[in-house]
Formats: sequence, structure tokens, C-alpha cells
Amino acid sequence: MNRICSTAASAAGRVRDPAGADRPDPEVNRQPVIHFLRTGIRIVVATVLAASLVVLAGVLWPLDTPIAQRAPDRLLIAGANLVDVRAGIVRPGQDILIEDGTIAAVGANLPRDSVIVLDAPGRYAIPGLFDMHVHSFKLSPLLTHPLFVAAGVTAVRDMGGCIGIDDAWVACADEKGAWNEAVRESRLVGPRFDQVTSLAINGGSEIPNGIDPELGAASPAGARKRVEHDLARGVDFLKPYTRISRDSYLALAEAARANGLYLAGHQPLAVSGLEAVAAGQRSIEHAFLFIWECYPGMAELRGTDNPRSVYTNEHRVSMISGHDEALCRTLHEAMVEAGTAFVPTHTTRKLDAFALDEAYRNDPRLKYIPRPLRSLWLGDADGMAQRAGDDGQASYRDFYEFGLAQTGAAHAAGVQVLAGTDAPDSFAFPGTGLHDELEHLVEAGLSPLDALRAATIEPARFLGLDGKAGVIEAGARADIVLLSGNPLADIGAVRSTDTVVLAGAVYDREDLDRLLADVEEAAGHWSMWPKFAWQIANSPIMRKQFAD
Ligand SMILES: [Zn+2]
Repeated sequence: MNRICSTAASAAGRVRDPAGADRPDPEVNRQPVIHFLRTGIRIVVATVLAASLVVLAGVLWPLDTPIAQRAPDRLLIAGANLVDVRAGIVRPGQDILIEDGTIAAVGANLPRDSVIVLDAPGRYAIPGLFDMHVHSFKLSPLLTHPLFVAAGVTAVRDMGGCIGIDDAWVACADEKGAWNEAVRESRLVGPRFDQVTSLAINGGSEIPNGIDPELGAASPAGARKRVEHDLARGVDFLKPYTRISRDSYLALAEAARANGLYLAGHQPLAVSGLEAVAAGQRSIEHAFLFIWECYPGMAELRGTDNPRSVYTNEHRVSMISGHDEALCRTLHEAMVEAGTAFVPTHTTRKLDAFALDEAYRNDPRLKYIPRPLRSLWLGDADGMAQRAGDDGQASYRDFYEFGLAQTGAAHAAGVQVLAGTDAPDSFAFPGTGLHDELEHLVEAGLSPLDALRAATIEPARFLGLDGKAGVIEAGARADIVLLSGNPLADIGAVRSTDTVVLAGAVYDREDLDRLLADVEEAAGHWSMWPKFAWQIANSPIMRKQFAD
């Protein structure tokens, strides 16, 4: 700076040469350029610094998870209409005594001494609901767990996991265990995580850099290695995914069985439904199952090197027009005999069908979805609509409705149907998405009672918790929802949540509204953007998924 402005002559940009003639000073003429560059660099550096500070502030910005209610030692829910999902009837005037988070007794006129009484005349008491297909992440206790509880969903089956390294975004088994304990002890508002699973096993594309690629089960040996690996990390079951090969899948199923684990997840493209059932897969997810399996052309499609080629408009049309009921019947029988459950998650197929529907896209519940996720959801809907085109939109709608009919047929044939949503996948709303799915199940042909069972006693049976959860009986955990309406008369009454009892802790309507308001505030907070960006960018699992 001093040099540039050292003399008046040079400041004027001209020097006098010995001959006395003025000539331009080349040094000085560069000065505005240098000045401009330096200023530019300063602006860039300042902007980068400021942006980094904003990101850092956003990442570190504390947002408190909602405060949990304390469970009283003894609580009596008095005079409720008890919905007995086992017997399929409503028992009026029932008292439910809760001690230390467990149901101690159920009956008329239980003694009221030394208990806190929660009067519930006119209320319908149902067991806390299960969502059998969700995904959780590190921020779930802040963003999705309170939504589940506010909707009466007191237990979830998480269908994602880690692979032996901590992850900035995905919640690992230890974390879910800690959440579970905190919920049991009324320190956290959230659903129970009764079992945990692996990272989806997809033939290798899912394995983050730095982890032994063999663990992707690209070969039968890799599949066996994966079972050992996940077993040591405390998973209860393994989740196969669409692209694992047939040989690896069969080796995975055998090794899982030998080690006391089981498979639950997608039906891999290379494996037939009958093979998956015979291999012992305990639940098969998503509504395409019977549409694929009852299409005679599927055997040929299964051999493709490019799984994406199966998801075309043309194939969707043929799968419906070429549907063969006899193939379905064979698969239904095999599933009934083996006890294989079906988790259709119609919520996910609804996105395909309604991607351009204005009411669907402007669901008022979007306010509970964190801003970055909201844009991902809408981007997903746009992409879906664009890829499909007009014909595709129509075939997706047929596919969705045909999927509902298939669920009805499977249920009528005796296949165990479980309610799951895939929340928070696009437009699968954590919590109330389960209400959507129960309505889907009724639309599919299940009675309201059977739909309710698909979210209560049936998931409990599936998870080995019969009598311990999914029912209101002595000995079961005290997860109870009081509704204003009778869900056996109209399944839509599951939305009329009046009170939720979670591990004996009481959340009345005011408390539930507070949970919703807390989530709405957090979801709309500016720091969601930096938090999401930071965690996802630092997540080896997510980096791999985005790269795939
Ligand atoms: Zn899923």
C-alpha cells in the first residue's frame, strides 16, 4: 500500500524521464488491477469464513429434544372402553392398573387406593401401535420420535443399520439400545426399538470405503463373513436388499440360521418369492411382492444385469395384465406354512401414483418434516413424475391400486400382514403415516379389527413379544393409546388420539400438542440445513448411497 501511494507523481500514474518527457509508469498502471484482485480475494476469504461460521454455528446450534413425562409408580386408567384385539371386541367400563411401567391388572372396578387415577370414560383404549418398517437417524429423537409417540406409535422396527464404524448420520445398534433404555426409564420421548438390523445387504454397492468390500456379500463367502461381522455387532436380524445375488442370498440365509439370526427385508430381484420363503426369510417388504411374483414373465426379468430395467412402464402394465392367480395361491400357501410375514408399506407406492397430485404434495403435515428433507421429498416426487411421463403416471396408479388388492388377497389367504410405512422415506410421515397405512389396509380389504391387529398383536407375535406388547393384558408393557372414537367401527378413529401412555408415563392431548409444536419448531429451524449437510457429508454410509 505504501509503495503504491508513495509519491504524488506515481499516484498520478506518470513519471518524468531524464529527457523530461512524460511517459506512463507501467508499475503504477498495474496498481488498480492488483488493488482489485486483493479486494476480490478479501471478499472471497471473508465470505468463505462467514459461511463456515454459519455452518459451524448451525451444526452446533443446540435444539433440545422434547422433555419426557415421568411415569407414576401406580396409575389407574379408569372406565375405558377397552379394545381387546385378541378377542376382537370392545369391553366397556374397564380399569387398567399400571405398576412400574407394566400392566398389573385389567378389569371392572379395580381398587383405587394409592394410585393416580386417569379417568377415561367414553375413551377407547387400544394397545400402543407398532410401525414395522421405519428408518432412524442420529437426529431422530429430536425430529421423528416425538411424532411417533404423538400418533400413538409406541414401537418401531427399524429397517436400517450400521456396518461396524460409527456413522455421522445413521443410528447404530448401541444408540438404539440407549434410546430404548431411556424410553423404558421415562427419560426420552420415543418409540421402542425391540430389535435391530444390519445395514441393507445389497451385494457390495452399500459398503463404505475403508470397510472390507467382501462384507457386501458379493460372494457366498462374503455373505458368511457378513453374518459373523453383524452378529458380533449385536444385530437381531439381517436385511437383504434388491441387488444381492441368488448364491450369496442363499449362503446368507443359511449362515444366519446357523447363528440364530434371521432375514427380513426386500425380496432380492434374483431370488423368487418361493425361494425366499424356503430360505427362511421371515418378512418380505413392499407391495410389489405379489405383483412381481404372480407375473409369469418374472422368471425372465430376474436374470437381468440391470435391475432398473424391471421398473418400466411397459413391465408394470404387463405385470397387471399378465397376473396369474394360481402363482399367487402357491406363494400364499408357502408363506402361510412357513409363517412368512408381508409388510406392504403402501405409503411408498402411493408416492409413485400421486407424485403430481396437488393435495398430496401439499400435505399440511409437511410442517413437521425438517426443511432439507422436505425438499428431498418434493424433488423425489418431481423426479418420479418426470421419469414416468403421462402413461407412467397412469400405470403407477394402477400398480398402487393393484398392490392394495394383492394385500387383501394375501390376507384373505391367511398370510400375516404387518403395518409398516418406511418413514421418513418420501411422504411416509413419521407417526401419522401409520394411520395412513391402516386406512390402506382397510381399503385393501382387511376389516378395521384386522388392520389394527396388523399394528398391535401381529407385530408383537412376529417379534416374539406375544403377551408382552401389542395387547392390554396383565404382564404386558404399559404402552396404551386412548382414542376418542372406536377404531373397530371406523379405522380412521386411530387419528383421534386423546392420550398416550408410554412405559407408564402419561401424555395427555396438551402434552402431545407440545411435542408436535416442538418438532415443528425444530423442523423449520434454519440450523436444519447445516446440521443435515454436515452429518450427511460426514456419513460414510450416506456418501456411498449418494454415489450409487
Ligand atoms: Zn425401508
